[in-house]
Amino acid sequence: MLGPVILAASRSDRMRRFVSAAPGTKQVVARFIAGETVDQVIPIVREAAERGLEVTLDVVGEDITTREQSFAARDAYLELIGQLEDLGLGERAEMSVKLSMFGQALEGGHELALANVRPVVEAAAAIGTTVTLDAEDHTTLDSMFAIHSALREDFPQTGCVIQAYLFRTEDDARRLAAEGCRVRIVKGAYKEPATVAHQDKAEIDKAYVRVLRILMEGEGYPMIGSHDPRLISITQDLARRAGRKLDEYEFQMLYGIRSEEHLRLAAEGHRMRVYTAYGTDWYGYFMRRLAEKPANLLFFARSILTK
Ligand code: FAD
Repeated sequence: MLGPVILAASRSDRMRRFVSAAPGTKQVVARFIAGETVDQVIPIVREAAERGLEVTLDVVGEDITTREQSFAARDAYLELIGQLEDLGLGERAEMSVKLSMFGQALEGGHELALANVRPVVEAAAAIGTTVTLDAEDHTTLDSMFAIHSALREDFPQTGCVIQAYLFRTEDDARRLAAEGCRVRIVKGAYKEPATVAHQDKAEIDKAYVRVLRILMEGEGYPMIGSHDPRLISITQDLARRAGRKLDEYEFQMLYGIRSEEHLRLAAEGHRMRVYTAYGTDWYGYFMRRLAEKPANLLFFARSILTK
């Protein structure tokens, strides 16, 4: 029951101010956010590479209110890609972006987000890597998928995310299970109404398996974004049945969550990519991690009270 309350709080400015200023917050945030600056995240990319892991980097931020902020988001990714190139880490790290951070919700936002994300995708391709468009709340998805199609005309390796909790997702998966199409499948992290999304955890898990089967049997490149041990084992089973080799799909997990499992899957020969978020605007990302596991909230509350 706590999850939806925390997700509602993730959109509240008052809560944002309270949580950001609370003593002890930084310590808990550090479990999920790899640092505040590019310089802090680069050693983490290097260390991941040494351990046989790949990463997808997310400069945290969303729900911006001005065009200038959208340009700053674009520039932050361009700076990151520049550093990865200088250090020869381009092929180990791809980028994950939230189009709301690129201005999607502003007036003329669809065009603005496309204009902002295109140079990032170009710069990523120039250093041998790619970009995945994260899935945000359901009202943003038609625009996200249209931007994904537009980018794929020139950069077919551009990825996107689909969310198992949405009723629409099986249809999206059928459309996206096409040759060369990189699709991350996740359960879904936003507060969605019962008119568009399953609310029950067991129903979401069943939907995840249905979508996973469509992707595995299709022609694309599935990216399994989950920490759920049952879904990981079902993925391995479906991949085997579909005759997929280990390099024809990948697992993805979040930085700070089930880190031993990252290493275990990589040691088994799987491609394992760690979604690594960094930056100063961590509030929305952090609150979604709290909502996913209420025990995190207890840990957070304790760290505030003991400061
Ligand atoms: P769950 O059943 O929630 O978790 C399984 C187990 O994993 C739990 O029992 C627990 O041990 C562990 N676990 C899971 N979450 C946490 C946590 N926060 N803290 C501590 N332990 C935890 N959602 C979107 O809506 N859009 C996206 O673009 C998106 N991108 C993602 C990218 C990646 C790589 C991943 C892994 C997730 C992404 N998500 C995204 C979030 C996703 O939708 C889920 O909210 C999240 O992954 C939790 O679901 P789960 O599949 O891990 O299963």
